[in-house]
Amino acid sequence: MAKLYIVPTPIGNLEDITLRALNILKDVDLILCEDTRRSKKLLNHFKIETKVRSHHKFNEHKEVGLVIEKIKSGDKIALVSDAGTPGISDPGFLIARTCIENNIEIDCLPGPTAFVPALINSGIPCDKFVFEGFLPIKKGRKTRLEKLSYEDRTMVFYESPHKILRTLKDFKTVFGNERKISISRELTKIFEENIRGSILEVLGLISEKPPKGELVIIVEGYKKSK
Ligand code: SAM
Repeated sequence: MAKLYIVPTPIGNLEDITLRALNILKDVDLILCEDTRRSKKLLNHFKIETKVRSHHKFNEHKEVGLVIEKIKSGDKIALVSDAGTPGISDPGFLIARTCIENNIEIDCLPGPTAFVPALINSGIPCDKFVFEGFLPIKKGRKTRLEKLSYEDRTMVFYESPHKILRTLKDFKTVFGNERKISISRELTKIFEENIRGSILEVLGLISEKPPKGELVIIVEGYKKSK
C-alpha cells in the first residue's frame, strides 16, 4: 500500500537496525535520505539496492510536494536520516505533517534513537522527561535556559563535543552546582562512555579531559528542597 515509512537507522552499531526496517527499505520504491552518500554505506552493507533521493533541511520544503505526488500515484516511500529516528533533531516533521494533511498514511517504525539509552543510562528519573534537543547557539539561548531553570522533569539535550564545555558552564549558572547530570558519549560504539555526577563534578571532569564524539546530556529536574 502506498504510504510514507519513517525508518530509524543505527546511531553507531549496525546490528541495531530492525528486521522490519531492512524489509521495508528493500521493498519501497524510493528511499529519501538526509545524506545519500552516508545512507548508501548502510544500504550497501545490507545489500539493499532501492533507489535513493536526497531529502534534507535545505531542500525539504521544495521536495515535499513531489514526494506527496509520488505517494498519491501509488509509490511506497521511506524516509531515513543520517542516524537514529527521522524527526528527532533531524528532518521528518515537515513531511509527516504534510502527509497527514493530505490524508496519506504514515508509518513510523520504532528503532534507534540516542536519547532513550542516554536517559536510561543516566540513572536520573525517567518517568517524566522533557526533550530539548540542541540549545540555540546564540539568539534565544539565555531565554530558553531561564525557562528551564524551574523545570521539574528530567531534561534531555543533544550537544556536540566542541560546545559541551560552554553548555556545562551555562548549566552551572542556571541550575547550580548540585543537580545530577549524565553525559552519554558514543552510544552503541566502541568508545561508549557514561559520565555521571553533580554538575560541578562533571564540569571538572570535562574541563580536564574534553570528550570526543557525539553526546547526549541528561539533567535532573528542579526540586524544591534544593
Ligand atoms: N535523529 C537522531 C536521534 O534519533 O537521536 C539525532 C540526530 S542529531 C542531528 C545528532 C545528535 O544526536 C548528536 O549531536 C548527539 O547529540 C546525538 N547522538 C546521535 N548519535 C549518538 C551516539 N551514538 N551517542 C551519543 N549521542 C548521539
